[in-house]
Amino acid sequence: MIGFDLSEDQQQLQDLSHQFAEGEMRPVAEHHDQTMEFPWEVIRKAHELGLMNTHIPERLGGLGLGAIEGAIISEELAWGCTGIGTAIEANGLALQPVIEGASDALLQRYVAPMTESPIMAAYAVTEPGAGSDVAALRTTAEKRGDHYLLNGSKMWITNAGVADWYFVLAYTDQEAGYKGMTAFLVEKGWKGVEVGKKEINLGQRCSDTRGLSFSDVEVPEENVVGEVGRGWMLAMGAFDHTRPLVASAAVGLARAAMEHAIRYASERKTMGRLIAKHQAIAFKIAEMARDIEAARLLVRKAAWLKDSGQRNTMYASMAKAFAADSAHRIASDAVQIFGGYGYNTEYPVEKLLRDSKIFQIYEGTSQIQRMIIARELFSGR
Ligand SMILES: Cc1cc2nc3c(=O)[nH]c(=O)nc-3n(C[C@H](O)[C@H](O)[C@H](O)COP(=O)(O)OP(=O)(O)OC[C@H]3O[C@@H](n4cnc5c(N)ncnc54)[C@H](O)[C@@H]3O)c2cc1C
Repeated sequence: MIGFDLSEDQQQLQDLSHQFAEGEMRPVAEHHDQTMEFPWEVIRKAHELGLMNTHIPERLGGLGLGAIEGAIISEELAWGCTGIGTAIEANGLALQPVIEGASDALLQRYVAPMTESPIMAAYAVTEPGAGSDVAALRTTAEKRGDHYLLNGSKMWITNAGVADWYFVLAYTDQEAGYKGMTAFLVEKGWKGVEVGKKEINLGQRCSDTRGLSFSDVEVPEENVVGEVGRGWMLAMGAFDHTRPLVASAAVGLARAAMEHAIRYASERKTMGRLIAKHQAIAFKIAEMARDIEAARLLVRKAAWLKDSGQRNTMYASMAKAFAADSAHRIASDAVQIFGGYGYNTEYPVEKLLRDSKIFQIYEGTSQIQRMIIARELFSGR
């Protein structure tokens, strides 16, 4: 990216992603929302077109694209449907710490095959008693000879029911605090791994969210991701790459909501005028456009810092919090602009409002993003 222009390659990627969202996602979005069926057919096509797992390095057979390209794709796919988009993005979240930390043997075994077929993966950190407070994890991995015995349970894990493997964070030394956490790559078919029922969520209903439980699962020591005691760093570090992408998805949803609002406000009349001519409505739409633009700029800055090897933690949190909060407000305003029709399932904006809420919760709540921004601002004082 030079200045604010996309390069020719980035522009092509944006066009491809947009056409895919329009042609393959929008027509089935309502079906998947209503049935909650996992969108396998869309996933397979996205994989075929190279719109998934785009950050797998070239040496493993991937495209090796950066965070900016990831954000460009994410915005367009989310414009299509964030339920389907989340399944794709969650795969990227599971991959990120593995790409950053895993041995070459693990990368060849688990990551390289994902460039050949649409294998799904899940990032399993949250537990019933540990969401924002990751240090409260209770899952443990005890060393027994050449393997670890994994015990515990995870909750709200995206893709848990469709993934072949999970990135799992557990304590190997509870006395050592966050330095006592280790990451493991765990296969779904291993003895002692149990997958919970599909959760029925407010929005993004085709995204597969489940609990996982591990009882005396034997994890070979070669499946430690990175070094023992570095799990926290890997699990949290992944967000520097993925939060700008999640933020970008929120931008895509907000853009869709604004487009629906503009179209409706240009057709619906009250008191002898189009509602777009009422300043109260026009100002709402002006604010939507302002915040979408600002959110995208934050996304691009956070992604650009990451791609250029600079620390971006604060910007990733700014982008995530601002884009998520804006998307939820914009979706709510779009419902308001549609009036009673906005509240009805026959019209598109009620789904967007339901789908938008989760952006303020997963990958760190909006409160946690503010905590990170404040921590970064006050560090060293
Ligand atoms: C649909 C869905 C998909 C998800 N996918 C995944 C996944 O793939 N992998 C995974 O590991 N997790 C996943 N999560 C879990 C998600 O990341 C957590 O739900 C989230 O981090 C919040 O944790 P919690 O639910 O335990 O809420 P809590 O941490 O209990 O927070 C409750 C409330 O308190 C606020 N709060 C907490 N601590 C503070 C504080 N110190 N200061 C101010 N406010 C605070 C929070 O912002 C929130 O509003 C998913 C969740 C959902 C709902």
